[in-house]
Amino acid sequence: NASLHELDPDVAAAVDAELHRQQSTLEMIASENFAPVAVMEAQGSVLTNKYAEGYPGRRYYGGCEHVDVIEQIAIDRVKDLFGAEHANVQPHSGAQANAAAMFALLSPGDTIMGLNLAHGGHLTHGMKINFSGKLYNVVAYHVNEETGQVDMAEVERLAKESRPKLIVAGWSAYPRQLDFAAFRRIADEVGAYLMVDMAHFAGLVAAGLHPNPVPHAHVVTTTTHKTLGGPRGGVILSTKELAKKINSAVFPGQQGGPLEHVIAGKAVAFKVAATDEFKERQQRTLDGARILAERLGLPDVTEVGVSVLSGGTDVHLVLVDLRNSELDGQQAEDRLHELGITVNRNAVPNDPRPPMVTSGLRIGTPALATRGFTAEDFTEVAEIIAAALKPEFDRDALAARVSELAAKHPLYPGL
Ligand code: PLP
Repeated sequence: NASLHELDPDVAAAVDAELHRQQSTLEMIASENFAPVAVMEAQGSVLTNKYAEGYPGRRYYGGCEHVDVIEQIAIDRVKDLFGAEHANVQPHSGAQANAAAMFALLSPGDTIMGLNLAHGGHLTHGMKINFSGKLYNVVAYHVNEETGQVDMAEVERLAKESRPKLIVAGWSAYPRQLDFAAFRRIADEVGAYLMVDMAHFAGLVAAGLHPNPVPHAHVVTTTTHKTLGGPRGGVILSTKELAKKINSAVFPGQQGGPLEHVIAGKAVAFKVAATDEFKERQQRTLDGARILAERLGLPDVTEVGVSVLSGGTDVHLVLVDLRNSELDGQQAEDRLHELGITVNRNAVPNDPRPPMVTSGLRIGTPALATRGFTAEDFTEVAEIIAAALKPEFDRDALAARVSELAAKHPLYPGL
C-alpha cells in the first residue's frame, strides 16, 4: 500500500511538476480543460482493477454488479444531456469512438467525406496515414478562402460526384458553427450516413449554447475531456436503429475491456454538465474567445500582419493567422510559452510554411473558464497576447502579468 511518492519518487516528482505547471501557467490549448477533483477521484479508484467485457447486464465476466450500475448511470446521463436515443460510453478516446463508428457503418474501400486536416479537420476524418485515410477512400472538403467558413456548395458538389457512404461533419480547429441541417440534407440526397464529431464543442452543446447535432445526425461522436471537462475518453451517440451495430463495433469490434474507472469519471462529468454552474462556465468560455478575437482584430495587431481567421469566433477558440506576420506558428507558440501561456501552433488553410512550423495559432478558453476567468480576466489575457505578437515587447513585464492572473485564480488548491 505504498503511496506513489514512496513507491516511485521519479514518477511522483514529474506528476508534482506537472501540477505546478498547470497551476502557474495559463492553459489555452483549445482541446484541454481541468477535470474536477471528483472525476479524478473516480479515475483513480479501484474500478481500474475490473474486467467487464460486454455491456451492463450482459457481461462476459463475473462480479460486474457494481460497474454495471456505474456504466448504466453514465449511459442514461449522456442520453439525457444530448437527447440521444442510444449511447455507448466505452470508447477509450475520441479517435477510437470515430474508428468504431466508421467500423459500424462502413466497409474498407467505401468513400467518406471529411474536412481537410489543414482546414480544421481531425486526423480521423480521413488523413492519409490515419486508419481513416488508409481504410477508406477519402474525399476532403474545405473552407472557403474568403470567408474562412466551410464551403457548403463544395460539400454538395463533392457529395454528388463521389456518392460517399458517410459524411463527417466536425472539426479540431475551426472557429464557427456548422450547419448540421444542411449536411443532413446533402447526406440524404446522396444516401450517405451523417456522422457529426462534436469532440470540441460538446460542452457548448450540453449548455445549450451551440446547436445540437443529435437530431440531425445518424451518429454523433465526442470526446469527454475538451469543453465537456471530464476524463480523457470518447462516447458514441446514435439512433436506436444503429444501436446494435455501434455496440458491436466498439466491443468486440475495436476494444476489449472497458475502462470502468474512466466511465465512472464520465458519469460524474455528465452530472456536472447538466448544472447551471456548467452553463455559466461555458458562457464565460464563449465570452473569453470573443474578447480574444475582437482584441486580435484591432489595427495595432493587424498592422503587424496578425489576423483572426474567419474574422471572429462563435465557439471556444480563436485561430490566429500569421501568414502575413514575421512570426511563424512555432515562434509564436514558443514566445507565448516563455510568458507562461500554453497554446498550439496550427496549420491554416493554404499554409505556406511546413506542417511542423505552420502559420497559425489555435487559442482556446475552456480551461481558463473552468479556472474561473471572467470577461475582465480574458480582456487582460487578450492584451498580453496582442502585445506578445508584436515585434517589440517587454517579456518580463508580460510574464509578470501572466503570473498575476494565475495567482488570482488558484487551480486545484487542495492538491
Ligand atoms: N475528434 C476531434 C474533432 C478531435 O479534435 C480529437 C482530438 O483532438 C479527436 C476526435 C480525438 O480524440 P482523442 O485525442 O481522445 O483520441
